[in-house]
Amino acid sequence: MEQYCRRCGVKLEEGMRFCPSCGAAVTEAYPGQVSGAAPRPRTAGSNGLAVAGFVVSLVSLLINFLGIVGIVGLILSGIGLSQASREGDNRRGMALAGVIIGALSTLWGFFNIIRLF
Ligand SMILES: [Zn+2]
Repeated sequence: MEQYCRRCGVKLEEGMRFCPSCGAAVTEAYPGQVSGAAPRPRTAGSNGLAVAGFVVSLVSLLINFLGIVGIVGLILSGIGLSQASREGDNRRGMALAGVIIGALSTLWGFFNIIRLF
């Protein structure tokens, strides 16, 4: 079975005790073999939504496709915000910024639509 450094991901030869790339100590247990030993990184869920909403809102402000993208960013950020505040997430500020930027972008888009007619 192949083993990889848990810090930098470099492939390790069998019997190696230290990573040749980053110098991290090689642990005997493979991730997943020992139950509960491998910590799961918190990536999905509210964090992802808050970031996605923020990014979409920001992009919509730049390209401003008649506010349609802004609405998507507003919705994503809104969901992200509600989840972040429920879990006490530190990404709450980012989600809040996404809501504000998304709302502004949507308003600006609507303004442009009205101006067309
Ligand atoms: Zn390494």
